Amino acid sequence: MLQEQEARAAEMERTFIAIKPDGVQRGLIAEIISRFERKGFKLVAIKIVVPSKGFAQKHYYDLKERPFFNGLCNFLSSGPAVAMVWEGEGVIKYGRKLIGATDPQKSEPGTIRGDLAVVVGRNIIHGSDGPETAKDEINLWLKPEELTSYSNNAEKWIYGVN
Ligand code: GDP
Ligand code: MG
Repeated sequence: MLQEQEARAAEMERTFIAIKPDGVQRGLIAEIISRFERKGFKLVAIKIVVPSKGFAQKHYYDLKERPFFNGLCNFLSSGPAVAMVWEGEGVIKYGRKLIGATDPQKSEPGTIRGDLAVVVGRNIIHGSDGPETAKDEINLWLKPEELTSYSNNAEKWIYGVN
């Protein structure tokens, strides 16, 4: 049993998810959180912050050559965003599935962007795109003491480990 639990713990991943200022202003915080929560992922950190422009530029550094970079950073720093870390088996990749394609016009119905957003410049949510960016983004947005680690009773029903 212990071995099984240890193996399961090794599978656990963390990803960084942010509700952007448009999601906050549109009253979609609870809706977005509930989609991750009902799936069976675990919320291990959450805070609401107004990112500075410089912070937004760091977060989107990889996109600095793109024509929309400046507008994107102005937008991300325009008001409060909700910064979260979600944990679970496969959460990095599956989190992106829950979110849907970058352009909401191309996101499938049933995804967060497919159901709740219309244009690429206001697509309400960010999610890390891989294990390295997840690590970097968690470190950028959260201090180590803002991250929790806990087990909950639902886990044995979500993962089937008894
Ligand atoms: P994501 O990982 O799905 O969020 O997409 P990217 O990492 O490629 O882009 C980051 C963010 O930049 C997206 O979520 C959009 O908000 C924005 N973005 C991406 N492509 C475009 C574009 O062509 N035009 C505009 N205005 N914004 C874009
Ligand atoms: Mg991205």
